[in-house]
Amino acid sequence: MFLERMSYPDVEKYLSRKDTVVIPVGSLESHGKHMPLGTDTIIPNRIAELLEERFPDVVIAPTLPYGATDDLRGFAGTVSLGVEGLRAVLQTICDQLFEYGFRRFIILNGHGGNVKSIEQVGIKVFERGGYLAIVNWWLIAGQIRPEWKGGHGGAEETAGVMAVDPTLIHSEYLTLGECIRNDISDELPSTSWTSVEFKGGMVTVPRHVNSITDNGWLAHGMGSDVPTNATREWGVEMLDAMADYIRDFIGALERAPLPKADGAK
Ligand SMILES: [Zn+2]
Repeated sequence: MFLERMSYPDVEKYLSRKDTVVIPVGSLESHGKHMPLGTDTIIPNRIAELLEERFPDVVIAPTLPYGATDDLRGFAGTVSLGVEGLRAVLQTICDQLFEYGFRRFIILNGHGGNVKSIEQVGIKVFERGGYLAIVNWWLIAGQIRPEWKGGHGGAEETAGVMAVDPTLIHSEYLTLGECIRNDISDELPSTSWTSVEFKGGMVTVPRHVNSITDNGWLAHGMGSDVPTNATREWGVEMLDAMADYIRDFIGALERAPLPKADGAK
């Protein structure tokens, strides 16, 4: 059940039986020249549709199409709420849903940069006597099927977008590499995301990703996760598996007792 299509009596009736709400959270950010800016929103939206088909008795709130993605600013069209902006928006949404009686919040997350903000909201929900669960779909997909594991704009996400609409992929750029440069110095080579390697260790140096790559996909910490490996079949199977997984997870969370509120607001 999509919340935007329900009436308020529908919601009251649902809340007399249940207290679960799924909130997809995305991002608007560069995923390389081959992929749309809305990749992290488009994929969770599709998983939400597949979940709704499998599990019509759960409320799915409208997707938040912006996230925290400051490090990808500079690629045209990327817009970030920042960690604090996303936290504030999501906190407001969850506070109001909590007041109506929702207690189990499932965040269907599409973007790694969103996690800090979502965790802060999750602690507040816990302190008030609810649970907020963060389903990072791309990480869990790689945990339940290691061959699906992937990073930013690599094969895993490319396959996910292909499953939704193959025409969104600019195939002429599929073979383009990550175009990584050692933007700080040759002594501190760029490794995964904003880390640099030094004497066998990885040190994170937060900076804009367009300083590291001219392309915008960045999965080189993930071995063979290159966009050319993606297929539509992979994406379809993977998004179906994620919808099954979330349906089953919701069942388990609904069987668990809620935590006691500690009085904090
Ligand atoms: Zn992504």
